[in-house]
Amino acid sequence: MKNQLILDGKKVANHIKELLSSRINKLGEKGITPCLATILVGDDPASETYVRMKGNACKKLGLESLKVHLPSNITTEDLIALIHKLNRDEKVHGILLQHPVPSHIDERLAFDAIALEKDVDGVTTNGFGQTAFQLGTFPSCTPAAILEMIDYYNLNLEGKNTVVVGRSPILGKPVAMMLLNRNATVTICHSKTKQLEDIVSKADIVVAAVGKPHFIKGDWIKEGAVIIDAGYNKGNVGDVDFIQCKVRASAITPVPAGVGPVTIAMLLKHTVIAAETQTRNLIGITI
Ligand code: NAP
Repeated sequence: MKNQLILDGKKVANHIKELLSSRINKLGEKGITPCLATILVGDDPASETYVRMKGNACKKLGLESLKVHLPSNITTEDLIALIHKLNRDEKVHGILLQHPVPSHIDERLAFDAIALEKDVDGVTTNGFGQTAFQLGTFPSCTPAAILEMIDYYNLNLEGKNTVVVGRSPILGKPVAMMLLNRNATVTICHSKTKQLEDIVSKADIVVAAVGKPHFIKGDWIKEGAVIIDAGYNKGNVGDVDFIQCKVRASAITPVPAGVGPVTIAMLLKHTVIAAETQTRNLIGITI
């Protein structure tokens, strides 16, 4: 039987959190607790779950989480005013506006109201630009998690034919840019792509970011390909047909316990870095 690797997201997430502990303690000695403010607009149950999970993860690691829950009929102006208030709050180091917001809100304007140094989820236009140019701010957490998993398992990206299925601003586009910056040869596919199956079948690395359960099929996969499933759909299933795709893959992420836990760990990591950066004069470290 061939040697196959299941890329274990829980293991990678634990590794990231272990490395963060001493940094959090060092901040604590100076009276600083990294704080993530999460903003939830409306009552979407999935979004509520995601926000709760992020808050719990903060608590477990010793970070503070400030939950702001706003009514679904809030205006863009009022939401932005609240974000500006959090930008000014010295106790808040990171701000996360849970996506998606109700359709009457201008999500792009709201995202872009987040101060760059507090944009720990990498959602601002500026943050995206900086990620594209490899300038050190915070990339979106799921793309960062994907790269973290690739690095943890020492998977080679250079010159690899890499196909990203999906081009959303928080996932497909930034991860494609980050893979390109690491010298992968990247093809981005989307809903208007023709012969998707044919394109995927030539990939050394496939990143699925579609939002459709079991969308990527086993017979599309090249023998020995690496498969990263960023999808998370109702019923705890990914965008990849794991059972089928695993047959030909040399390495594959499961769902659950793949990219998901690493995404949360990256959010914690970004919040700790944000706290260190914003208090560097107090804690006397060079970032
Ligand atoms: P999204 O904004 O809905 O984007 C989906 C992308 O898939 C779009 O670019 C769309 O193309 C493309 N697509 C849709 N149907 C397609 C088709 N038939 N063929 C090829 N491409 C197609 O979704 P998202 O926010 O990027 O999320 C994608 C998945 O990742 C979801 O399952 C989500 O739950 C998951 N996710 C997971 C995490 C995590 O922490 N693990 C975080 C964020 C998202 P067009 O641009 O042409 O419409």
